[in-house]
Amino acid sequence: MSKPQVLQIGALSERFNQALAERYEVSALWQQADPQQFLKEQGAAFELVVSSARFGCSAEQLACLPNLRAICSFGVGYDPYPLELLRDRGIAISTTPDVLNDCVADLAMGLIIDTARQLAASDRFVRDGQWLTGNYPLTRKVSGKKLGIVGLGRIGQAIAQRAEGFAMPVRYHKRSEDLSSPYGYAADLQELARWADFLVVACPGGAATHHLINADVLAALGATGILVNIARGSVVDQAALVTALLDGALGGAGLDVFEAEPAVPEALFGLPNVVLLPHVGSGTHETRLQMEELVLANLQAFIDKGEMLTPL
Ligand code: NAP
Repeated sequence: MSKPQVLQIGALSERFNQALAERYEVSALWQQADPQQFLKEQGAAFELVVSSARFGCSAEQLACLPNLRAICSFGVGYDPYPLELLRDRGIAISTTPDVLNDCVADLAMGLIIDTARQLAASDRFVRDGQWLTGNYPLTRKVSGKKLGIVGLGRIGQAIAQRAEGFAMPVRYHKRSEDLSSPYGYAADLQELARWADFLVVACPGGAATHHLINADVLAALGATGILVNIARGSVVDQAALVTALLDGALGGAGLDVFEAEPAVPEALFGLPNVVLLPHVGSGTHETRLQMEELVLANLQAFIDKGEMLTPL
């Protein structure tokens, strides 16, 4: 029996690419000399696409895939997919939720601690030999501080659970109150920022949350407040963030994501109260393996039963 045909939009790990190629007849779009031309000529052959929260599948690409039935995406973000178009055409889409909650929440706590206690900057201080000539300045306490979470979904809740171990009062903001949540709801994001010592962003990216964290929210968080973003760069007005940090109007920032990755504002490089990470929230051996396995399981479930395990 011939293997099902799959269009893979972008390269994932070598291990995943191999596993996919062993099970299916894979066409690697990124390896085509002219990917868009390839899609124009061959697109009608594909019912199945594998992609990721990074590569997505654009409206232009979808226009060349008239017989597409399902997209299995690696990662939990869905901002690079035209969801309305997918819905209108009845194209199913799956992501890889839950398996990455722990690692992303761990990283959020790591960013809170690193930014407040300046671990990375202290490490640079030691390596640069500066300890030989003096002590490191005092930093900010973490335990017992007030934590505001923007987006109390799967990852946001995992962050809140961890915060309990640090005796942090937790409040959250999202579009609607979660009546079963033990944490206080803030309908007004600025009010939450005014209350919080640390504000962690854990909502989806995309048009609906574009620059949700704007200059007013940063001003409300204030000169002793710390912003942590493990969501998407688009959620934060990065120019306003840089200005607030350079002016000392914001206490610090721990950032895993940026507006134009992998470009990071160089103006922040010299600030000890800013931690800059290269979008590594889910980037552990254990979690990436689980995410890969879930993409493959979703694809096979759709082929076998017409249903995915974790549809969006
Ligand atoms: P989720 O379970 O869908 O939770 C999203 C939360 O955001 C929900 O509480 C939702 O509540 C809230 N939300 C949605 N739209 C909002 C808006 N306009 N304003 C305020 N809150 C809003 O998603 P998740 O699995 O926790 O993942 C969250 C995001 O983390 C992903 O979308 C992804 O972009 C990011 N992420 C980053 C990394 C990384 O490597 N740094 C890794 C994984 C995920 P309401 O619907 O009630 O508003």
